[in-house]
Order: sequence, then C-alpha cells, then structure tokens
Amino acid sequence: MNFHILTLFPEMVTQGLETSVIGRASRAGLLTINAVNIRDYSENKHHNVDDYPYGGGAGMLMQAQPVYNAWKSVVEKTGTKPRCVYVTPQGSTFTQKTAKELALEEDLILLCGHYEGIDERVLEEIVTDYISIGDYVLTGGELPAMVITDAVSRMVPGVLGNQESGQAESFEGNLLEYPQYSRPEEWRGKKVPEVLLSGHHKNIEIWRRQQSILRTRERRPDLLKQAELSSQEQDWLSGVK
Ligand code: SAM
Repeated sequence: MNFHILTLFPEMVTQGLETSVIGRASRAGLLTINAVNIRDYSENKHHNVDDYPYGGGAGMLMQAQPVYNAWKSVVEKTGTKPRCVYVTPQGSTFTQKTAKELALEEDLILLCGHYEGIDERVLEEIVTDYISIGDYVLTGGELPAMVITDAVSRMVPGVLGNQESGQAESFEGNLLEYPQYSRPEEWRGKKVPEVLLSGHHKNIEIWRRQQSILRTRERRPDLLKQAELSSQEQDWLSGVK
C-alpha cells in the first residue's frame, strides 16, 4: 500500500514513520511513505503557500494552487485518482472500522492542513473523505496523518509479525481487549489469574471473552451497546455486579 502525504513538513512525517513496525514494513516493501512537500509546488517566487483569509479573521490560510499541484503530482505518478483524505477537526471521527476500510486501497492520499486550514475551493476539487482524529484542534494535520497511516498500515497483510495480533484486539466485535499478563507468575503480591496457567484452552477463551465484556462495560459502555452478545452472555452479564 502506498501512502502519499501532502504536507508542509515532510520531515516530520518521514521521521515519525521510519521507526518500529511501520518503518520495518516500509523497508520490507510492504508499504511506501511518499511525503510530498506542498511548498515545492508553489508557483510564487518566494515559495509562499499561505495568505490572509477573505473577510478577515485571525491567522493565515493555505492557498489552493500549491495544494492542487501537489495532489496532481500524485495523480500523475500513480496514473489513478486515489482516495484523498483531508485530515480536519471537521471530519467524521476516525475508527478501527475506517482503518480497515482504508487498508483496502492501493494508494491513499492524506492532505495535512496548517495555520487556519485550506482554501475551500481546492478541498471541493480534490477531497473524497474528511476525517478527524478527535474533538480537539491541533496545529497541523501531520500528527493525524501519522495516526491514520499507522492504524491503516497495521491492517495491511504482513505488516504485523503475527496476523493474529491484529484480529483479537480492541474494537473487534465492538469490545475492548481482555487483560494480559506475562512472567513472572507473581509480581508485588499480584498473581496471574489461575485459568491462564491451566493450559485449558476452552476455559481460557471463555474467561477472555468475559473479561472483554466486563472491561467494555466498565470503560466504554457506549461501545458495549453495539457489541453482539449471545443471550447466554447477556444473562451472565446481568448477574455480574
Ligand atoms: N480553523 C480550523 C477549524 O477550526 O476547523 C482548524 C485548523 S487547525 C489549527 C490546522 C490543521 O490541523 C487543520 O487544517 C487540519 O489539517 C489539522 N487538524 C487539527 N486538528 C485536527 C483533528 N482533530 N483531526 C484531524 N486534523 C486536525
């Protein structure tokens, strides 16, 4: 999968994405991170990319022309019109479901705004999806683009060493993951739950499922409402305080 990140700060995204799992996957050729510097596409002799907003108001706005030309360079390079996500606090909230859906694309453009945002006309022209990473305002779109690239990359086959680890995680079936433990069996007087040491796979599976349900009820009751629980599980849950 190829990520094309249109940004005024390419070094921020390339440095941020070159380590750990994503860095390893890109060195292995499973994905590419193409950071496109919007400033390189300015037709202004001082390479300016921003100007005052019409109608007044605080701050500067990224101009349409350099953004459009940066986008066009990707369209020409790929020979297609990939989905183009503008990361913006005004978008729909990014979820694991969105990450899975975006991972089906071969090429994905992520457009990062800065200052007060981007001239509306170029957004109307090139953007297919508006995505927010949460209800707060950041200084730029680079961190959101990196968040999306990371979460989407994990869904690309082969990126995670063990495919299982992508499948049994939080948000699968609208539940949070169960608690996990590693060695030693006892730490500061706290013991690993007995069932996990039993070697009894069926009981371990049942315990984990129940812990997932309990944890989701405690921490994300909104999510639990969307989870599919069997009638047996519902009965069991209503009996647990
Ligand atoms: N004036 C804009 C508004 O009120 O909607 C906010 C602009 S913000 C200071 C600059 C850029 O950061 C945005 O264009 C967007 O690309 C990015 N950004 C800020 N917060 C974000 C969020 N929660 N999710 C995604 N992108 C965000």
